Amino acid sequence: MAVPKKKTSKSRRNMRRAHDALTSVGAIECSNCGELKRPHHICTACGHYDGREVVEVSAQA
Ligand SMILES: [Zn+2]
Repeated sequence: MAVPKKKTSKSRRNMRRAHDALTSVGAIECSNCGELKRPHHICTACGHYDGREVVEVSAQA
C-alpha cells in the first residue's frame, strides 16, 4: 500500500481545500409566469419550457 512520506501540514491541507467551496445555483425568471427557475430546466410553477407547456401542473387552474 502506498504510504505518505510526510505529514500534510494544516497549511497545505487548507491550500488543497481552497477550491472545494460549493457555488450557488443560478436562477432566472420564467418567461411564461415570471417564477424563479433554474436555467435549462422546466419551470416547476407552470411546467413550461422553451415557450410551451411540456408538463401538466396539477395546481394550475
Ligand atoms: Zn413558469
